Amino acid sequence: MALTRIVEILKSGQPGQLLEVAGWVRTRRDSKQGFSFIELNDGSCMANLQIVVGVEVPGAAENIKHVTTGASVRIAGELKESPGKGQRVELAAQSLAIVGTADAEAYPLQKKRHSFEFLREIAHLRPRTNTFGAIARVRNEVCASIHRFFQSRGFIYVQTPIITTSDCEGAGAMFQVTTLDLAKLPTPSAAAPGGPREIDYANDFFGKRASLTVSGQLEAEIFATSLGCCYTFGPTFRAENSNTTRHLAEFWMIEPEMPFYELDDNMQLAEDFIRTLVRDVLEHCSEDVAFFNERIEPTVLSNLQNITQSEFVRLPYTEAIDILTKSGQTFEFPVAWGRDLQSEHERYLTEQHFKRPVILFDYPRTIKPFYMRCNDDGKTVRAMDVLVPRVGEIIGGSQREERLDMLVERLKECHLDPKDYWWYLDLRRYGTVPHSGFGLGLERVMLLITGMANIRDVIPFPRTPKNAEF
Ligand code: ATP
Ligand code: MN
Repeated sequence: MALTRIVEILKSGQPGQLLEVAGWVRTRRDSKQGFSFIELNDGSCMANLQIVVGVEVPGAAENIKHVTTGASVRIAGELKESPGKGQRVELAAQSLAIVGTADAEAYPLQKKRHSFEFLREIAHLRPRTNTFGAIARVRNEVCASIHRFFQSRGFIYVQTPIITTSDCEGAGAMFQVTTLDLAKLPTPSAAAPGGPREIDYANDFFGKRASLTVSGQLEAEIFATSLGCCYTFGPTFRAENSNTTRHLAEFWMIEPEMPFYELDDNMQLAEDFIRTLVRDVLEHCSEDVAFFNERIEPTVLSNLQNITQSEFVRLPYTEAIDILTKSGQTFEFPVAWGRDLQSEHERYLTEQHFKRPVILFDYPRTIKPFYMRCNDDGKTVRAMDVLVPRVGEIIGGSQREERLDMLVERLKECHLDPKDYWWYLDLRRYGTVPHSGFGLGLERVMLLITGMANIRDVIPFPRTPKNAEF
C-alpha cells in the first residue's frame, strides 16, 4: 500500500478508509484498558495523527514498548471518527511495524520546550520539532512563491557563478577559494624579507585570486541587457565577522535585474514582490503562521496582514535623517547626513514612526557602491533599501549607472581599477540601457514571516563565525 501523508488525512480523510502511514513518534500513552495512543508526525504538517493500537493488533503486545518518542514506525489501519477532543479522525491500527527504534533515555528531543540555542547544537534533529518543521515548510513555500512571482512575469532564471575572481562590489569581506597548500606557500618575495608574503596567484587553481561570490548582480546585468528581465536565486557568502542576529556567512539571495526599469519601477516591483510572498504564505501555510503568532512572536500575524494591506512608504534618505534627528530618541549610533543607517534607525522608522514598511531612496554616494546611478545633485545615488518592522533592511537595490563616463569616474572615485571591470563597462559601451535591480535576503524574509528572532534559526544549517557543524 502506498503511504498516505498525514496532512491529507487530516484535511480530507474519511471514516472507513483503509490506509497506511509512516513517520516518527511524538508521544505514546497507554490506557488502563490495554489500548495505546500514538501521536505520529510525518513532517507534512504541524499536527500529529492520533493512532489507536488495540491488543488485537498482531505483535502489539511485545512491539508497543519500542514505540517511544523519536522511533520510526509504519502503521496500517482504518480511519475512524475520533470520539476524543482535538481531532476529527484517528487511525485504528491493524498492523504495526517498528522501522527504527530510538532509545528513550538517550533521545535528545524530550517532550518539553528546548531553547533555540540548544536546538542549534542538534541541528540534525531540530527539524523534528514543531517550530523547525514549520520553518522548513514556510521556507519551502517562500521559495516556490519567489519562482512563481518571477516566472509569471516572464523573468528568466539565471544561475550566476559561486566562485568569482572579481571583488565585484565590495559588498563585504570575501571568502578566498584556493588550492594552494597553505602550509607550503611559495617563498616570500625577496622584496619583503620577513614582511607579508607576496603570493603568486598565477600558480593558484584559477591563475588569479578567487573568492566565493557576495552577489550575482554584475553577472545578472549581462543577462538583463540581453534577454530582458531576469533573476538569480542562489547562495551568497560574506566573511564579515559580525555576530548579529541578522547576518550569516552563507545566505540565500534573490536578485532580479530589469532593463528599462528606473528606480520607481524597481520600488514598485520590490513592493509587489514582498506583498506576494507574504500573501502566499498566509494562504498556503496558515496553520504554521498561526503557530508562530501564538508561540513565537505575537505581532507576526498583524504585521503580515498590515503588509498585505498598506502601501509602503517611499522616503528620500535626506528626509529620513530629518525624521530621525527630530525624533527625540536616543540611539546607540549617531544620526547624521552621510552616515549609513543602523538597524535601530531602520526599525524606528518602520515600527514607531510609520508603522509599515518603508522604502528609503537616494542615499549619499559616499556610502553606496560604484554601480549605483548618480543623481544630478552630485551628492546622492539612486539607491533604495526596503525596511520592514522587526527586521530592518530586507532589500537593497538601485538603478544602475548606465552612462559609461560616469561609471568610469565612479570606479576611480571608489579606488577600483576600470581595467578589472572591462566586461561590465562593455555593457555600457554596446547598447547601454537604463536598468535596475535589487537583492532580497531569503533569511531576512523568513525572519519577517516567522517572527523568529535569530537568523541562525531560519536556515537549515547556519554558517556563522566559528560555526559550520552539520
Ligand atoms: P546589512 O546592512 O543589513 O548588513 P547590506 O547592506 O550589507 O546588509 P546588501 O549588500 O544590500 O546588504 O545585500 C542585499 C540583501 O541581502 C540585504 O538587504 C539583506 O536582505 C541580505 N543580506 C546581506 N548581508 C546578509 C548577511 N550577512 N546575512 C543574511 N542576509 C544578508
Ligand atoms: Mn544594503
